Amino acid sequence: MAEVLVYVDHVDGAVRKPTLELLTLARRIGEPVAVALGSGAGDTAATLAEHGAVKVLTHEAAEYADYLVVPKVDALQAAHEAVSPAAVLVPSSAEGKEIAARLALRLGSGVITDAVDLEAGDEGPVATQSVFAASYTTKSRVSKGTPVITVKPNSAAVEAAPAAGAVESLSVTFSEQATGTKVTGRTPRESTGRPELTEAAIVVSGGRGVNGAENFAIIEALADSLGAAVGASRAAVDAGWYPHTNQVGQTGKSVSPQLYIANGISGAIQHRAGMQTSKTIVAVNKDAEAPIFELVDFGVVGDLFDVVPQLTEEVKAR
Ligand code: FAD
Repeated sequence: MAEVLVYVDHVDGAVRKPTLELLTLARRIGEPVAVALGSGAGDTAATLAEHGAVKVLTHEAAEYADYLVVPKVDALQAAHEAVSPAAVLVPSSAEGKEIAARLALRLGSGVITDAVDLEAGDEGPVATQSVFAASYTTKSRVSKGTPVITVKPNSAAVEAAPAAGAVESLSVTFSEQATGTKVTGRTPRESTGRPELTEAAIVVSGGRGVNGAENFAIIEALADSLGAAVGASRAAVDAGWYPHTNQVGQTGKSVSPQLYIANGISGAIQHRAGMQTSKTIVAVNKDAEAPIFELVDFGVVGDLFDVVPQLTEEVKAR
């Protein structure tokens, strides 16, 4: 069976959920071989093996933390040479997409970004994407070279599938470009204690209808009762009510959670572009004609200041 390289996103050995989703999808098209880099790479092996990695290629070097993406591209290229995989899968983060694009260029391959599903095809893996502001769903495959595919978080349910997970150390020679741009400092964002927006299973968003920064407290209260991330429409962000890092949409972040709850958001095409692939969509809006109701699974026509606190109390009571 063909091997599929999976780039491991981890923090000091703790594997992040999008990588486990990639391993689940990789098993549909071959045998996953994980590539874990940087500090704690070796500590990822047990988790990766539990989720189907037949092999874990590791390389710990300071360059991965001290420099930008090129050392990681060098390592993936080395892994590609060692394994000759049927595909390379990378999580669809900003960094993941840069790694994928650079790797595809090196390999002379085609690249597919932001896939929301993946299946085996007669002529290689077939990726599903949501395109043109989510107006169309397309299926595509790479027709040149080894397919390099980035997959959006929450595109697959994580399934455990114990495998050998044999750890092998990867031999990497860093290119001249690898040390071209040095990271001179890192300032971690103040933690809200909420999950990362693009990876959260539930997202609770607020729009212009929230009517003020202080009123986002009721959106946050609902989010916290559900263990959710908080999102915002551009109107709310432009008004200065919520940080830009939380904007969902065409010029914000693209989310695909199990549950998306839109409060006081009209459902403009640019907002939909960032959330339309959510599995279940709920909207609270006082205007029954709001376009958001065209795409919801459940809609509440009502004032969010009445509905959202009731919903929060109901969730807390369970
Ligand atoms: P509105 O459209 O004003 O809707 C507010 C809604 O709240 C209304 O439906 C109203 O009925 C409802 N409401 C009001 N009060 C209440 C209440 N008390 N209870 C319940 N409901 C209430 N937008 C994004 O979100 N993300 C993007 O990334 C993005 N990118 C863009 C890129 C470009 C190039 C352009 C041109 C636009 C972009 N926009 C984006 C903006 C987009 O077109 C809309 O203007 C924006 O999404 C509207 O935000 P909203 O739904 O919060 O506000």
